[in-house]
Amino acid sequence: MGADVPAASARVLRSGWFKPDLVARLDRDYGALAVPDDERRESFLATHADAEVLVVSGRTGAPGDMMRALPRLRAVINHGVGVERTDLAHAAAAGIQVANTPDVLTDCVADAAVAMLLDVMRGISAADRFVRRGAWASGESYPLTRKVTGARVGILGLGRIGRAIARRLEGFDVALSYHNRSARDDVPYRYADSVVELAREADLLVVAATGGAGTSRLVDRSVLDALGPHGFLVNIARASVVDEELMVAMLADGRLGGAALDVFEREPQVPEGLLALDNVVLLPHLGSGTVETREAIARSVLANLEAFLSTGAVLTPVRS
Ligand code: NAP
Repeated sequence: MGADVPAASARVLRSGWFKPDLVARLDRDYGALAVPDDERRESFLATHADAEVLVVSGRTGAPGDMMRALPRLRAVINHGVGVERTDLAHAAAAGIQVANTPDVLTDCVADAAVAMLLDVMRGISAADRFVRRGAWASGESYPLTRKVTGARVGILGLGRIGRAIARRLEGFDVALSYHNRSARDDVPYRYADSVVELAREADLLVVAATGGAGTSRLVDRSVLDALGPHGFLVNIARASVVDEELMVAMLADGRLGGAALDVFEREPQVPEGLLALDNVVLLPHLGSGTVETREAIARSVLANLEAFLSTGAVLTPVRS
């Protein structure tokens, strides 16, 4: 049991920000030590080169150089689903298991995506600003928005979260299509052969695909052009999947109708050009950010850690 591990052994390291109660559990029950994120990191890693497990936040990940500095490392446990900051190729080559926390956050991320879709198409946040600044009271009319029920929605990345979004949207009688690298045989939705084709036949494109090098800028100029001035984009996945700079320019000059974004290239910085736009919904990466889901993610991290320390195998390994 982890409680027997003396704090000085530093069998477990943690890197990144975690909820205080998860930090308390990691430190108290597993003797975890925090990897500094400043110039002290290198000497810290050299001092604790005997560590076997690294618990990381999705934002920090486990880069190759950090893993190489820990020659006895056998497991990386990632808080959250996105593991694009962890060098999976190095982990595989070095025999390091990588776990993430799938499934437990799917519902909340899908709920957020649907809220974003409703917001950007019906102008909910913009209408709230309109009321607050007194425009309604002073006689202005709020512009007409777009109908959600019956709209054509394309989902890029029909995985766990993409499917949960699709299931929710069935209640809005939308026409659903999707694109993955390969078609699924367990869904009734139309498969589009390419992202461009998906965008061409959609009023709104939801990005729910894995982030990282394999999906970098899949949503490029041709896709954004295909969505066009009356099209909307919802990104709940990772900013890297979209050409952010081009998207900002197209939102600003009307070549793209609107966007709801939970993720950005340089979080927590948001491109300056988006801040003044009313056709854009900006969220602080809150997809999984509910009390219930963050507790479930913490439980999944601890269950993976406990399983690894007692059996040598993590519970929910990342599958490529
Ligand atoms: P998942 O079940 O692994 O689904 C990922 C989907 O992406 C799969 O359908 C996969 O299909 C597709 N995909 C991967 N590479 C692709 C490519 N090159 N072209 C087209 N499709 C591709 O993952 P999930 O649990 O649904 O999570 C999805 C992502 O959401 C995560 O990776 C994470 O970055 C993001 N996320 C964001 C938040 C937030 O707070 N905003 C929270 C949790 C997760 P194929 O393999 O068939 O291509």
